[in-house]
Amino acid sequence: VGDQGPADRVAGLPPPRLREDPALADELLARLPDGPWSRATSVTDLVDPRRSYWRQTRGAPPISPDRQAKMDAGRRAHRRIDLALPAEGAFEVRLRRGGVSARIDLLADVPVEVKTGDDAPPDDLVEGRPEYVDQVAMYCALLDRTDGRLIHVHPDASGRPTVRAVDVAFADPAVLRDELASRASGLRSALASADPAGLPACRWFARGCEFRAAGRCECNGAEPFPSTAFQDAVVGVVVRGDVEERWNRALAASSAPLADASFRRFRDLLYPRRTYFETTSPEEPPVPARPSPGETYPSEVYDSTVGALEGGPIGDVRRLAETDSLVEEEVAGWKGEPYVIRTSRAWSRARADAALERFPQYAIELGFRCAVTATTRARVVLAYERAENPRDRLQVLEYDFGDGVASYAQLYRDRAATLTAARARADPRELPPCALWMTTDCPYRARCGCPAESGRSQR
Ligand code: SF4
Repeated sequence: VGDQGPADRVAGLPPPRLREDPALADELLARLPDGPWSRATSVTDLVDPRRSYWRQTRGAPPISPDRQAKMDAGRRAHRRIDLALPAEGAFEVRLRRGGVSARIDLLADVPVEVKTGDDAPPDDLVEGRPEYVDQVAMYCALLDRTDGRLIHVHPDASGRPTVRAVDVAFADPAVLRDELASRASGLRSALASADPAGLPACRWFARGCEFRAAGRCECNGAEPFPSTAFQDAVVGVVVRGDVEERWNRALAASSAPLADASFRRFRDLLYPRRTYFETTSPEEPPVPARPSPGETYPSEVYDSTVGALEGGPIGDVRRLAETDSLVEEEVAGWKGEPYVIRTSRAWSRARADAALERFPQYAIELGFRCAVTATTRARVVLAYERAENPRDRLQVLEYDFGDGVASYAQLYRDRAATLTAARARADPRELPPCALWMTTDCPYRARCGCPAESGRSQR
């Protein structure tokens, strides 16, 4: 495949067959809120609402190299688990109910929260790690279930993964739902009134909280004690020796360490020139502004659309099994096929027969995702921010690559090799220029010396 053109248009790539799917768009439209676009609260926000408050109002604090290394190791460990135990259930199941969203690590016979770390966990996971219990309790609340599982994976003295597994039974899903709703409304009220006083003390206050270290919070340790409602609802804890044994065996059999993913996102290979600068000498990203009352922001449109997908049947949206670990970003699947959600400020909907010309980047983004999941069909869900008629708010475009997916797989590998070589030579000149619209506000423009604008994509 030739790769001389702008990064979102590549000469010689076989175009996918493209069609609009109005039935799927209708399915999603039925789940959009009647009123304005709205944003969900995540289960992760509700484990420590105070941290979420500061993150949403003041931005995430810088991540220390140590912490980044731990997070990277955690992601690799999770990926290794996914690859070693494919038959265990559905991984990273996403769902949303009542304005609360969750990404469940594993949906097996019960919802499972998987934790990884360098150190052995306390003997009593339920007593010693209340935040794990909170998380699995919230999954149960959203799924209307009473049983969940906690799994902790850490290396033993010889570095071999060691698994602890306990099943946790809760008394009544209604109690769990009430506590979930109370946490969500507490966080929403704090954000609406810009007053975090009623939010419970953060469990990380005295454990190296990075918001405190960066001066991005006003906590003083005298905040209300966190609720114990989820722990109080526990009526049974059973150590699952059989699960521990199965996991230990599977992880030992796949003990070859996973190589570090070389790229964080598929976008890195879609726009490799921009990625070169972002990863070799990044500019500090601006702290996102909070929307003013009554204003619609692209993130709300995006989040509402995510909610429409995640509000469907359980398991409809989940991670797809990948055949390659070059890119760290997981491939989310909707109804078993890769998808991306994109927002548009266009006044008119795209015609399916013009979409390849209008959005050339989507075919490559989806082609890469198909290439690493052994699939040949994928979808873009387009959300139109300016749609006046509610029925025009969403559009689903289906891309069928057929055998042509092999060319996208080749481009994926070529782009990865070219970007790796550019980094090694500290020279981005061989990398294809980004789309023209990206150049206008690009903070790297002066250093990039990107080619002349003529002949480059407008998208
Ligand atoms: S100046 Fe243009 S080509 Fe260069 S990195 Fe920025 S967007 Fe990409």
